Amino acid sequence: MRKPFIAGNWKMFLTRSTGIELAKAIAHGLGDAGDRDVLVCPSFALLGDVADAVKGSNVLIGAQNMHFENEGAFTGEVSADMLLSVSCSYVILGHSERRHVFHEKDPTINKKILFALKKNLKPILCVGELLEEREAGSTETVVKDQVTSGLREVGKDSMGSVTIAYEPVWAIGTGKTATPEDADGVHSFIRSIISELYGREISEKTRILYGGSVKPGNVDELMAKGNIDGALVGGASLEADSFLRVIKFES
Ligand code: PEP
Repeated sequence: MRKPFIAGNWKMFLTRSTGIELAKAIAHGLGDAGDRDVLVCPSFALLGDVADAVKGSNVLIGAQNMHFENEGAFTGEVSADMLLSVSCSYVILGHSERRHVFHEKDPTINKKILFALKKNLKPILCVGELLEEREAGSTETVVKDQVTSGLREVGKDSMGSVTIAYEPVWAIGTGKTATPEDADGVHSFIRSIISELYGREISEKTRILYGGSVKPGNVDELMAKGNIDGALVGGASLEADSFLRVIKFES
């Protein structure tokens, strides 16, 4: 049985005060919902304060990106040790905005995944096709490529720390959601790739999140699907009531 996992990606939104306020409201509203993992991923500047704000609660802290080198002259970048020092346990890697706005390629994402694992940070590897790729019928090819390249040289023993997020790019921040059936189909395909790479037992344990305009109104039907183990939530994670409702999905 895979534990449901709801992660909020705050992207480049909120400030120190509004981030702390939101984090406290989530921690308070969450109560002892110990049957699901809850993660918030604020921008780098807010990480330390948000971590302090949720201390003692079940809310986990993650980052939205990191560099693959330990340290060095990389102006504007953030290292794994820096993230660990502000209580991060997760890091989102290969988000579509990193891939398509900042032109990050699979080999770079793979280096980040490997380095995160080496440092005991749990990576959330994001994959997903563009609208034109979906319309051309190449969703599976694109997703297979991204999963296989992202996990290159990741050993079996590390897979317990890896989460995959399927986020069709056309559904992110657009209000369009893949139908639960479509999303579940791609998740099942991703699970079959993990099975090919690592065997069935590991594939059955790997959590695959759906991302793309998840909100209170659609989370229940998405989470009812057998291969959807959680959600990576952008817009709806920026407001306590909507994020708490997503966290408390009913299926
Ligand atoms: C995201 O940021 O990963 C995301 C899925 O955003 P939204 O929920 O706003 O579509």
